[in-house]
Amino acid sequence: MKKEISGAFKRILYPARCPGCDGILHGYESDRVFCDTCVRLVRPVSGRVCLRCGKPIVTMMTDLCRDCEGVDHAVIQGRSAFLYTGPMKTAMYRFKYSGRRVYARPLARVSFENNKTWLSDVAPDVIVPVPMYADKKKARGYNQAEEFAKRLSVLMSIPMEPDILKRVKNTIPQKGLDRKNRQKNLKNAFKIGQSGVKFECVLLVDDIYTTGTTVNEAAKALVEGFGCRVFSFCICIGAG
Ligand SMILES: [Zn+2]
Ligand SMILES: [Zn+2]
Repeated sequence: MKKEISGAFKRILYPARCPGCDGILHGYESDRVFCDTCVRLVRPVSGRVCLRCGKPIVTMMTDLCRDCEGVDHAVIQGRSAFLYTGPMKTAMYRFKYSGRRVYARPLARVSFENNKTWLSDVAPDVIVPVPMYADKKKARGYNQAEEFAKRLSVLMSIPMEPDILKRVKNTIPQKGLDRKNRQKNLKNAFKIGQSGVKFECVLLVDDIYTTGTTVNEAAKALVEGFGCRVFSFCICIGAG
């Protein structure tokens, strides 16, 4: 009874919202992730994708996208659930900067559902979110990648370890930087934390995958520190 009451209060205080438009989901929509309008506008990743990063590719000439061709990646393979376009752009902004931590649960649910086979093939023994610099996380209140990883961990029944990877450099946003400067900006930005446990296969999780510099620099630290295999999974990926 008590649990039911607190559940009802929770729904009043924190009603289910569509991450696409931030509208409150009522009635039949309330057990869905997106409202009727946004569900038609979001673009789950499908079709031919880059064998390395999971970005959609249109040409039949290659198996790799422009960002992965000729690049030595620390991540073995990556997948993302949605194209970073339409309502997902504003969804990611609110999830990151406007305190919409509550998006983590529905976004993890739909990302997991759409990529179940790939995730179970990877069969990681731990999920690690791309960390945020400590002062930044303190100011923002949470790390959106960690919130997503936490929910994914529950759905996959695999532990999430937010402390085995640390961001030791307060980097400037990657947006607007070319590949060379992105790498320079992130050089030595990640270090592994103390852990007595040995990991063989890590699923590295982030919110948005653009050129892959962040995820790969983070993966490099994990590979060097643990000698593990690293796969990546992100909510959104740039359309390329
Ligand atoms: Zn919506
Ligand atoms: Zn690629």
